[in-house]
Amino acid sequence: MQLATPIEEIPRVGPQYQKKLKKLGIKTIHDLLFHFPHRYEEFSNIVPVSEIKSGAINSIQGKILEIENKRTWKKRMVLTQCLVEDFSGAIKVIWFNQPYLINVLKKGDFISLSGKAVLKKNEIYLSSPAYEKISSLADFQGINPNKTKTTKKEKGLTHTGRLIPVYPETEGLSSKWLRYVIKLVLTDLGDKILDPLPIKLRKEHQLILLQKSLWQAHFPDSLILAKKAKKRFAFEGLFFIGLHILREKQKLAKEKAMPIPFDLKLIQGFVKKLPFKLTGCQKKSIWQILKDIERPWPMNRLLEGDVGSGKTVVATMAILNIVKAGYQTGLMAPTEILAKQHFQEISKLLKSFNLSIGLLTGKEGKIISKESKWQAIKISRQKLLEKIIAGETDLLIGTHALIQKQVKFKRLALVVLDEQHRFGVDQRARLCSSPAKASTDRQEKELPPIPHLLSMTATPIPRTLALTIYGDLDLSLIVELPKGRKKIITKIIPPKERNKAYRFIKNEVKQGRQVFVICPRIEPTNNERQTANNEQLLKWNEVKAVKEEYTKLSKKIFPDLKIGMLHGKMKTEEKEEIMRKFKQKETDILVSTSVIEVGIDIPNAGVMIIEGAERFGLAQLHQFRGRVGRAEHQSFCFLFTDSPAKKTFQRLKALMFSENGFDLAEQDLKIRGPGEVFGQRQSGIPDLVMDSLADISLVTKTRQAAKEILIEDPGLKKYPLLREKIQEFEKKVHLE
Ligand code: ADP
Ligand code: MG
Repeated sequence: MQLATPIEEIPRVGPQYQKKLKKLGIKTIHDLLFHFPHRYEEFSNIVPVSEIKSGAINSIQGKILEIENKRTWKKRMVLTQCLVEDFSGAIKVIWFNQPYLINVLKKGDFISLSGKAVLKKNEIYLSSPAYEKISSLADFQGINPNKTKTTKKEKGLTHTGRLIPVYPETEGLSSKWLRYVIKLVLTDLGDKILDPLPIKLRKEHQLILLQKSLWQAHFPDSLILAKKAKKRFAFEGLFFIGLHILREKQKLAKEKAMPIPFDLKLIQGFVKKLPFKLTGCQKKSIWQILKDIERPWPMNRLLEGDVGSGKTVVATMAILNIVKAGYQTGLMAPTEILAKQHFQEISKLLKSFNLSIGLLTGKEGKIISKESKWQAIKISRQKLLEKIIAGETDLLIGTHALIQKQVKFKRLALVVLDEQHRFGVDQRARLCSSPAKASTDRQEKELPPIPHLLSMTATPIPRTLALTIYGDLDLSLIVELPKGRKKIITKIIPPKERNKAYRFIKNEVKQGRQVFVICPRIEPTNNERQTANNEQLLKWNEVKAVKEEYTKLSKKIFPDLKIGMLHGKMKTEEKEEIMRKFKQKETDILVSTSVIEVGIDIPNAGVMIIEGAERFGLAQLHQFRGRVGRAEHQSFCFLFTDSPAKKTFQRLKALMFSENGFDLAEQDLKIRGPGEVFGQRQSGIPDLVMDSLADISLVTKTRQAAKEILIEDPGLKKYPLLREKIQEFEKKVHLE
């Protein structure tokens, strides 16, 4: 076995367990060993039987004198009674309703036990202790008074008599089973675990060796060592992230892009014509972007700003600067509706600049040009494609259709991605390598320039995290909203106020407003869990939740209103049709899963209802809330919750008092930890590392270490193992 060995090859891990492990994202031995316990049971207090204290956790080791099952008629239970003896005496041990134990533990066996001692009717006994058989008692401290502590003793024990790892609860994988398998694997690997971290680095930062860290994280000799081990993994994880970011920058700095001068006059002219004043953050962001574009290597900048913070106008200025210099730009949005929305909005903003702007979606093409007298008209896809190749279209806005092979730009110099996290890495690379040939050819001597890239997102990643993940140079933040926005009234609605809220909503609809209803997933039954795979299951239960809510609202609560339904299992066209209907006020209420389109603009929507609000993170709730409050009327956000827990209430309250997505994300981070906020499976980064992302001093240290090693050895030629690891990491981890 090696770290890279797939779990299928671990002896005694059958297909059932393989499936369960895979659900956790565990595919190799490496993944398994990096599945860390979240706490430890303190079972290391091994005492002679004569010194057992009632009410406390005790560990003992001894020989089974007798063991038998007894039935208690009163409570209809099976008791397994056992008598265990060591050099100092004997003690009774009782397990409840585990009759099979007599088949596992036999008279004469040596066992190790850890559990609570109970005093009843003047008799002391161990109640349902954890147990494991041991081979030879002579090695163990508990039985032999003459033997002093042996350091090896813990290695022999897995479930008792030491610090015992407890893993996060997961479907069908008990801590006991994980301990067993992890120990099996660690033992088998022996000295074959090579440490990718250079010795110098380990020394400087006092990091323990990988092999030792793995043992100490899972089967620690002390809590201090467990902590040290975890520190090593956190360091390593952050160090890899740092290396990855710097390597990406290295790569990009070697590429060529068109340097385009910052046309200050042009931008000032544009700003003067705006019906509003730019916020400070907007100004700073456009400045950063246009400075980047002046350089002869490609920009890779993320523009992050809350919903409604005005990212579009910033992107529009960048676009204007580029096209007036004689180049083309492409803007890609995740859905057709969003693409159309951008087409309308941006052509309005650029109206007096006489630009030719195209819209390309899966279904249609539109164009604004001189020939069309600067009005939007329909155009065949073929014609539009020709215009793009000829360089006649300055700006092309569209969906994924933009990255089809037939789309070729003559002089593409900037690509803008809206809600960029919804695009895969591959798609991004494809867009960026246009108009050049495939990236494999790009190794040749003459590198064709690749376009600058501006990504936009409204996902409010907390600042501290964003800086860690993206690095300080390539991130522009819009942290303030334009002045004069109307506050959305946010309310927590407990079950008893539900009807009142419904009456209120009815009235709002009467006034002409529209309403969103967001439903969380329905928790699957055990039966469903066993039959479906995870992803299927999640989708399925979202659909179920939406359908149930839809039926309830349309039959019982608002029988006289028009209600629509939207969920992730629908086809794209179906979804867009439903959104179109809602946008054009053909429906009053839209019931949806959390997949509701980001960035969609329905100014007439006035109420956002979130069912089971406690099930969502603050940042996500804030995102939902941002779907309303986009026009003159007063808007409302109702957080429906059935959970009376005080903690829930407090968390939701944060939403009533804060309008700032970044602040809320930061609070989310504090309450739930980065692992929860981001989801480990999504990013591929272990929770342990995620949780340390908020540790600024560690982040700084690791970033510095990464920098130093790349300065010393840019290609990591001296550190082949590290290079191999980082390449693996880059394949697995997604930081968008
Ligand atoms: P988002 O960042 O969510 O994409 P948009 O760019 O769609 O936000 O902007 C939301 C609205 O705010 C638009 O109608 C836009 O015209 C307006 N807006 C943008 N910047 C400002 C500003 N500085 N002052 C007032 N309104 C602004
Ligand atoms: Mg937007």
